[in-house]
Order: sequence, then C-alpha cells, then structure tokens
Amino acid sequence: MSLARTWSVALDGVTGHLVQVEAHLAGGLPGTLVIGLGDAAVYQARDRVRAAVINSGHKWPDLRITLALSPAALPKKGAGFDLALAIAVLEAAEVVPRGRAGDTVLIGELGLDGGIRPVRGVLPLLLAARASGRRRAIVPLANLTEAALSGLDVQGVAELADLLAHLNGESDRLVDCPPVPVPRPPRIADMSEVLGQPEARAALEVAAAGGHHLAMIGPPGSGKTMLATRLPGLLPGLDAAQSLEVTAVHSVAGGLDDETPLITRPPFVDPHHTASLAAVIGGGSSLIRPGSVSLAHRGVLFMDEAPEFKPTVLDGLRQPLESGGVMLARASGAVRFPARFQLVIAANPCPCAAARDVDCTCASGIRRRYLSRISGPLLDRIDIRVDIPPLDPASLTQSAEKPEASAPIAERVLVARERAAYRWRSTPWRLNAEAPGPVVRRQWRAGRSETELVERAVRTGRLTGRGFDRVLRLALTSADLAGREIPNRGDVGRALALRCGEGL
Ligand SMILES: [Zn+2]
Repeated sequence: MSLARTWSVALDGVTGHLVQVEAHLAGGLPGTLVIGLGDAAVYQARDRVRAAVINSGHKWPDLRITLALSPAALPKKGAGFDLALAIAVLEAAEVVPRGRAGDTVLIGELGLDGGIRPVRGVLPLLLAARASGRRRAIVPLANLTEAALSGLDVQGVAELADLLAHLNGESDRLVDCPPVPVPRPPRIADMSEVLGQPEARAALEVAAAGGHHLAMIGPPGSGKTMLATRLPGLLPGLDAAQSLEVTAVHSVAGGLDDETPLITRPPFVDPHHTASLAAVIGGGSSLIRPGSVSLAHRGVLFMDEAPEFKPTVLDGLRQPLESGGVMLARASGAVRFPARFQLVIAANPCPCAAARDVDCTCASGIRRRYLSRISGPLLDRIDIRVDIPPLDPASLTQSAEKPEASAPIAERVLVARERAAYRWRSTPWRLNAEAPGPVVRRQWRAGRSETELVERAVRTGRLTGRGFDRVLRLALTSADLAGREIPNRGDVGRALALRCGEGL
C-alpha cells in the first residue's frame, strides 16, 4: 500500500481554488477509481492518464488505484487535473521519487499520446495558487506566456515524458518562463475621423467622463458605430489590478493573444444581434464560458441594432447592469462572472431603416413599437439618449477645421473622473453613474433655480420621475468636465438635453 500527493487548481467562474490530488495504491482487484465531485471530464481522466502514461514508455500499476480530489465539496471541471493525477500515481508507484513534485502546482490536460494540451483559465488558476502561498507551477507549454503574468515561478512542458525525465533528474526539457511581453497599445480608432455630429461627440465625452450608459438613435450611416468604437479610446487605461482581473476573464474564455496576453485597455465587445443568450450573457453545457457581458468587464459593451436582439438577451442584461456580475446556473451550483461594463446601444428609429424620415415605409404603430422593445429593461438604466440626425453632407465638405482627436478629449475625461473620484472618496463609488439616486441627492442639494428647471421638465412630461436622478447625475458630470465643484443651471440644462435626446 502506498500514497502520494500532488497539487492542482480548480476553476469556479474566474476564481481558482487549490486542489489536493491523492493517489492510493493497494492490492486487490486491479482498477482505477476517481472520487471527489468531478464532472465527466474528470472521471474520464483515468483512461486518458493511463493511456498517456503507457504511451510515455511507463507501466501503469497493476493495482487497485484510488484517486481523490479534495476538498471534495468543491466542484471540479475539465481535464486540467490530468497532469497532477498522472504524477500522483507515478509517485505512489515510485516511478518518480515520492514527494519529488512537492508543492509545485501541476496544470495540464493529457492527450492519449502523452502530449500535454493547453487549458483555459491558466491565469486565474495560477493567481489562486499564488494567493494560497504556492511559489512554483508547471503548465502546458502553450499556456506559458499567459502563465508568466501570474508572477509565479513557472515552467512549461510539452510532453509527459519530458516532465517525468525532469522529476527523475535525467534530462531537462522544461521551458523557462519568457519575460512578460510589453503590451502593444492596441490600435483604437480616433475621434479625428468622425466628421460632424457635434451633439453626439459631446454626449460621448460626457458618457466617458461619468461612466454613463448611452443610447444612440439614428438612421443607418449617421455614424453611430463610428462613435461607439471610439469610446474605449476616451477612457483611462486599466490599472494593474484591473488588468489582471480583465485578463483573467478572457483567459477563462480562451481568447488571449499570445503576443500581448495582458489586457491593459478597456475592452470593446460588440455581439451581433443574432447572438444567443449563452453567447451574450454566458453559459454553455459542460464548461461554462463567460459571455459578451463579462468579456466587456471594465470596458464597453456595444449593442448595434439593439431592438433586433432576442427579448431574452435584452432581459438578461438587467442583472449585470444592476449588480456588475452574472450568476450562471449549472447542475453543481451557480457560477459568478464579473460583468461591470459601460453599455452603448444603437438603434435605427424604425425597422425599415430608411436613411431619411421621409423615406420611411413603416406604419406608424410599428414605428412607435420598435423602440419600445428596448425601453423596458434597458432605456430605464441608460442615462444618456442622443438622437443622431442623418449626416449633413455640407458638414463633410465645408468644415475647414479638422475634428478634435481622441487624446485631448481623453485628457479632459481623466480630469473629470478625478474630480468625481474625489467627490465620492468616502463611498464605494468612483463614477457619477455608479452613485444611487438618494446618495446623489444627499451629496448635492440642487439650488432653487436648478431644481425648478428639472421639476418643470417632469411637470410637462418631458422627463419621467425616474429620470430625475439621472439628470442630477449627468449635471454632476457636466460640472466635472467644466471644472466646477457644484453644477450650475447651465449644467442642469445640459443634463436635461442629454437625458431627453434633444441634443445640446
Ligand atoms: Zn421605417
């Protein structure tokens, strides 16, 4: 009878948990048993691991083998435990000296031929290992660049045979961590390419400064997509902690670029309107994948032709907009992914998408109902609505001045955000858009003249009661951009126009 232990990490959403793998060899009827709340892929591990060991030139012990993954209560998904299982068995069988792998965390899926395949989520797995005090890890060679971001002492390995040779001190074909690549700034389209549309440009700047969700209503070709794709270029870069957080989500989704694995800029994600609920919100049958809402975490989620999305998808946005995350149900419990994004939606005024109102062929009822598809769940949470007119051809040819570039706008946005962060310094919020209505009203008691302006808008039906707080929030952002501590009547007027889609 003999026992050996190795270490690996299980992934739950974007959070890793250290897992101990034990192999127990005993006499009796030969066979292999895996215990410890694994999914089908974990239970199939015994066949994969056995084939991989044999094809790496070693004998599979002809004994009764019990493999246990603990803590047992923690659900374990996928094939990433293969390597730790294989080494535990081979240490117990003394093919490798007992205890040689020690505290090293082992991550990797085995092919039947003994090749080590990459796994998803290596970064959050290793960050968890590091948080649990581990200092060293061995990962699939294909995951090594991403693994370097974890700050652990990591090596990559391509074949089980290479790892066994390393543990036996025979030869060393493990690959050391490359230096963390310096992130290349991604090419973001620039505001200097956007001609005309002064109201929309101003609305985008306010949205960037206050973190406000934005709706753009206008005919095709008016520049809605051009504007939306330029929003990330107006936002500040991610700090070190945010970078790791965002990169971890993309690591779980399996979408990291090997040349610049660390994401340092706010992501921009634009699902197509035919996308499924699982694609946008997250889900999947065996391994749950983060959806667009999570890939857009700390960045921008752009939904073009928003009324064309499935109602279930639009409805599914409610939870992340409220809580900054999504809970996805699965058989073994719920998984949470972060999803705190800035929402930009664009819509044509009607389904026929005529370039000018006079060309519209829609019945008036259909035209009216079209935008109401997004009104319930979404428009209520969106601070800014901007109606974008068809592009005026004169603005393209006659304007002598080149439109302002992104850089100076981003600078103003940064200063305004610093003002807002200072205002909310003793609260959990940093952006005006995050602060709840009652808190905004407590923080800033609007003067008589300002309050009167908003109340008149409510009385005349221009603004709904629920829009009141949104106007106050927008007025704060308008003041932040203007360098005023307290909004004045002009800021409130500007906020009303932004809320009601009337331009500035
Ligand atoms: Zn129409």
